[in-house]
Amino acid sequence: MSLELSHAPLLVVGAGIMGAGIAQVAAQAGHEVFLYDVREGAAAAARARLATTLGTLVAKGKLAAGEDAATLGRITPLARLEDAARAGLAIEAIVEDLGAKRALFAQLEALLGDEAVLATNTSSISVTAIANGLKQPGRLVGMHFFNPVPLMKLVEVVSGLHTQPQVAQAIFALSQSWGKVPVHARSTPGFIVNRIARPYYAETLALLLEQAAAPHELDACLKAAGFRMGPCELMDLIGHDTNLAVTCSVYEANFSDKRFMPSLVQREMVEGGLLGRKSGQGFYRYPEGVPALAAWPRSAQASPQAGAQPVVVHGDDGFAEALCAALSRLPSCTMERDLGSTWTGLAVDGGQLRLTDGRTAGEVAATAGQADIAVFDRFDPRQPCAGALAFALAGSAGDAWQARAPSWLAALGFTPVRLADAPGLVVARTLAMLINEAADAVLQGVCSTEGADAAMTLGVNYPQGPFQWLGRWSPAGVVALLDALDAHYRGERYRASPWLRRQAWALPWPGR
Ligand code: NAD
Repeated sequence: MSLELSHAPLLVVGAGIMGAGIAQVAAQAGHEVFLYDVREGAAAAARARLATTLGTLVAKGKLAAGEDAATLGRITPLARLEDAARAGLAIEAIVEDLGAKRALFAQLEALLGDEAVLATNTSSISVTAIANGLKQPGRLVGMHFFNPVPLMKLVEVVSGLHTQPQVAQAIFALSQSWGKVPVHARSTPGFIVNRIARPYYAETLALLLEQAAAPHELDACLKAAGFRMGPCELMDLIGHDTNLAVTCSVYEANFSDKRFMPSLVQREMVEGGLLGRKSGQGFYRYPEGVPALAAWPRSAQASPQAGAQPVVVHGDDGFAEALCAALSRLPSCTMERDLGSTWTGLAVDGGQLRLTDGRTAGEVAATAGQADIAVFDRFDPRQPCAGALAFALAGSAGDAWQARAPSWLAALGFTPVRLADAPGLVVARTLAMLINEAADAVLQGVCSTEGADAAMTLGVNYPQGPFQWLGRWSPAGVVALLDALDAHYRGERYRASPWLRRQAWALPWPGR
């Protein structure tokens, strides 16, 4: 089998959104491209649309003059699949249906030479299952592009049980030569991105189910943590029907593992036709979109009270340093440190503001024997304190502390967002669950730690990858937070990945 694909004539089957994008990228990279679609005229129409796209790129100076015509000249729409017999690589981007894909590959296997590589752009079907029944299942591989194909750098190169390593490697090298960033993945439900991203939606949906906050408040907190879009506005953009369908497919493909359980909140929205932007309403109404978060009034910011005791900063980590830096900017605030403390945060005005460790404020209060407790969410301690930050108050907190705790957060620079006393608040629990899912993916050989980071930053634009977050947290800290959630909710959902637990215990783990 020839594994040098850089000059191979290419057949793209399916001239829809993805197929047209793949044809464009391949032709721009110099391949001769045959484009076929079962719908009569669809391939020619896709090529005509590409002419407009490429012309616009030239007009904007993003493509050299003449490159549009040259690229188009390399794309041939076909009315008959048989006319592509000399293709060295076929990439399938047809309907997401196992039967249709199997039938197509059986046809392609008979048509193309024995040397040809077969690739599927499936986003959710097992590559192993698609290859089953082929005479040479080893030459079939997943080549999972992201939409829009010309702009999104990530390609998941998905190996099924049969896929020959040299075939995956050839597709990996080809993707690189097209200017993409390929990442190897094993064929498991959701591959890398669609699997690891589930908690981003699921944790917010879980908080909404228990009425912990409003959608725009949760969105604001996650955007302050660096995410480009909050989960609610992102689900509105993707469409709740599509998002729910992906969640359901990952859930079912994992034998109904509770960790991936779809949300009642989202299902009801779909049942009610609240699909997001495309239906004019999802979590938000459109065109208005996300309502602004109420500003915290400056008059309600805390200031040190006359004759007050110094503020004691507990902890010796980056968060404690960030709190010190913010306090040092407050006029007439005296500060002390408790570097040996078991918790991170502030002791002030007789109460405690603690960085969440996964326990509710109520549990912390009961365990510490201290009524005036508030917990606050994780933030990026390398940045000045700013933006929306979730906090929760213990039920035992007195009236004065209920007002003082958020006003201290405001004085530090944050916009406090009060959540019900849900464990792990929103950013901490979401990051922990994203890390946890990525850890399990590595444990199961789905991808490497570097692959997971690349996939999540390039495939869904996360500000950082899960293992980059882990590098600034600690495996023991993440496990402790997950264990607290697990103890609170009692179910399968928050079980910590053995990969993380072993790392926390400094035992060997796969891939080390
Ligand atoms: P699409 O509906 O835009 O295009 C599919 C095209 O395939 C249509 O033009 C249809 O006529 C054609 N087609 C259907 N059956 C065919 C067959 N048997 N032979 C030839 N052509 C056939 O769909 P899309 O969004 O481009 O998705 C295509 C594939 O890519 C699916 O497997 C999908 O899961 C996957 N994918 C989609 C996205 C996305 O964001 N849209 C992202 C990654 C992967």
